[in-house]
Amino acid sequence: MNPSRRLLLKHLAFRASEISPLDGLVSAPPDGECFIAWPEVADRAKRLASALVELGVQPGNRVATLAFNDHRHIDAYLAVPCLGATLHPINVRWNLDEMASVLEHTRDRIVFVDASLMDRAIALADRCPWIEHLVRMGPAETGDGPSTVRANLSITDHDELLASSPAITEWPDLDEHEIMAMCSTSGTTGVPKTVAYTHRTTCLQTMALGLTDCMRLSGRDTVLAIVPMFHALGWCFPYACGMLGARLVLPHRDLGPNRILDLMVNHEVTTSVAVPTVWNAVLAALDANPGRWNLDRVDRIVSGGAAPTATMIRRFRDEHGVEVIHSWGMTEINPVGTMSPAATTREEAALDPNDQLRHQQVAGRPLPGLKLEIEDEDGQQTPHDGTSTGRLLVSGWWVAQTYAFNHPDGDRFRSDGRLDTGDVASIDDRGRMAIRDRAKDMIKSGGEWISSLALERAIGDFPEVATCAVIARPDDRWGERPIAVVSLAPAASLDLATLQTRLAQAFERWQCPDDLILVDSIPLTSTGKIDKKTLRRQFPS
Ligand code: AMP
Repeated sequence: MNPSRRLLLKHLAFRASEISPLDGLVSAPPDGECFIAWPEVADRAKRLASALVELGVQPGNRVATLAFNDHRHIDAYLAVPCLGATLHPINVRWNLDEMASVLEHTRDRIVFVDASLMDRAIALADRCPWIEHLVRMGPAETGDGPSTVRANLSITDHDELLASSPAITEWPDLDEHEIMAMCSTSGTTGVPKTVAYTHRTTCLQTMALGLTDCMRLSGRDTVLAIVPMFHALGWCFPYACGMLGARLVLPHRDLGPNRILDLMVNHEVTTSVAVPTVWNAVLAALDANPGRWNLDRVDRIVSGGAAPTATMIRRFRDEHGVEVIHSWGMTEINPVGTMSPAATTREEAALDPNDQLRHQQVAGRPLPGLKLEIEDEDGQQTPHDGTSTGRLLVSGWWVAQTYAFNHPDGDRFRSDGRLDTGDVASIDDRGRMAIRDRAKDMIKSGGEWISSLALERAIGDFPEVATCAVIARPDDRWGERPIAVVSLAPAASLDLATLQTRLAQAFERWQCPDDLILVDSIPLTSTGKIDKKTLRRQFPS
């Protein structure tokens, strides 16, 4: 196939510099907010590409990032894949065990690191001897972190690297099936699952984000990208803005509701994307500061990654004139699967606003190129009547066929191309899908997964503990929080503070259970497994 006909990121991600050269991105890292016009964004990517070649990066090599949403991260987002290497954003919220378990497979030699995370990256490099270079993004921070850096680990400054590197003249012609990025999500076993995205899958996903009936994205928008670029390729929004010429606002680390609202107002943001916990916090900030922020310019926001409440959708519409577009997706599908604007068809446009609201509460229709099905426990198709539920299967243009490295959860990819999502859903007679439940036991807190199994294993190792189960408790702020239900060994005692202190050696604070419930015995299923369904009924809140 002629290279110009291939679905390559280079053909769409730089389109903004041609069609909208005066527009660009606004980046707000701690060392100062800046505006970078799209042609300069393209030039920076080309300079970083030649620096990467100088550092020995070859096509197919993996280059990791440990970073927030800012312009330097965008440099890597463009340069690494367009050069033919694989971009590998690491979730900055993970503990070192999780990070190291992924790097064990990906073996990245180079890690681009936000300046505030250098201590963590140095500790990670101690665990992963194959890491040769850390590229610090942002001015060095003074702190009392590890002062010793192991031998054979070089540290370079991102801005100096760019300043001293000439722009490459042309991007290479690649195969569209080449892997351009790898992203990982937490697995039920505690071992993260890694998914590979190709140029083809990412281009198709990005094109779909630009469809009117998706979220009405256009070159006239200003997009505040709250969803982290380390989660599922930032839902491909950085690429969609580069394709359409929409202005991209990158908030860096501070995602507090007041900051989000300040950025929205100061930069006349028209749309934004985040998980429901963020939007709930934004509503609470608006309530607490009446009149402080005027959201007249904000037209719509996307809420995805977990279920939004009906109240949140209604309040944004009625009190702030903002449409909430509900979205469902997963890392395994590049990652956006559905979008649910208030009305897409003539039939929906004619409905009264309260009926439209009902449709916004469901996850919505699959984007073109995807197919959703539901099946019962016997593998039979469940009717699309809006009430029958079943396991949700997804297939289509950007659905992964396997995990990148052998993973115990890999059997969810079926040989016929369908992926068992692990979600339980219904589909109505107009193709609108609603998530009803989650078949798995992972806990989703503030948009991030916590593995109940990893916590159970750690707690189960305590000498005082006989049996332990970790389940989710609904939480207004975070969506879900973990609680530990424990039966103790005879004559033993354990309190919450001790549990949290011990776990803090291996887990981040936000991953540790909020509560410890001591019970005489933990219910088991007929096959001797912990019966979490019963536990959830016993401890609903
Ligand atoms: P991740 O790959 O980490 O983004 O997680 C994907 C999972 O998040 C899905 O399989 C769902 O269980 C959950 N999820 C994503 N979007 C939604 C949504 N709109 N409503 C409910 N759950 C969701």
